[in-house]
Amino acid sequence: CGIIGIVGTAPVQDRLVESLKRLEYRGYDSAGIAGQVDGKLQRRRAPGKLRELEAVLVADPLRATTGIGHTRWATHGAPTERNAHPHIAGNVAVVHNGIIENFAELRAEMQAKGRVFSSDTDSEVVAHLIDQAMTEGLAPLAAFEATIARLRGAYALAVLVGGEREVIMGARNGPPLAVGYGDGEMFIGSDGMALGPFTNRVAYLSDGDYVVIDHNSARIFDEAGLPAIRPIKVLAASS
Ligand code: GLU
Repeated sequence: CGIIGIVGTAPVQDRLVESLKRLEYRGYDSAGIAGQVDGKLQRRRAPGKLRELEAVLVADPLRATTGIGHTRWATHGAPTERNAHPHIAGNVAVVHNGIIENFAELRAEMQAKGRVFSSDTDSEVVAHLIDQAMTEGLAPLAAFEATIARLRGAYALAVLVGGEREVIMGARNGPPLAVGYGDGEMFIGSDGMALGPFTNRVAYLSDGDYVVIDHNSARIFDEAGLPAIRPIKVLAASS
């Protein structure tokens, strides 16, 4: 029910959790984070409160500087660790708020291509669609565009692709998603409050928008795929 993504230069684990705490007010039943470690995806997840995730992270820290995080309010699949986000397929990690209404037919299509699912969620299929498109030769952004064009329903998404270039892709169709502008670091999150610890310069995506952030920039596109400019607002300082 809450999303955060950081393309960072400093360790990201504690900052992801701090941001998720600011999204607790939305309600949730499990939580998780994923990051790039030496270009490879790693994740930690836990059912229950954020302190359960924090206990997992104490035992097994995630040493990444770029990562995504999620608090889940289950709609499809019980609130268990295997259903907690992020969902990973191949080289792609996804966090999702909302409901993918046509997930069953998309999942059947992916299973027909030999893909094995490891959760009961509607969300996991998004990771498979992107990874499958990349396997078939598309670059990450093109794979993301091809995937969101096929989704029906409501979503805010944040996507991390394992690789050398540190980027996070996001999309909004319903649930809100904001872009935060830092200093050599960039952020996406469900609202300005989630980004409050990191920056007060925030742009809100419009419905149908998608975005790619790297360390220094955000490229925002509208639902027609055309470059879009969304005004950067300077939010009042929050503590
Ligand atoms: N529908 C997804 C799930 O059940 C996402 C729920 C949410 O918005 O947290 O996993």
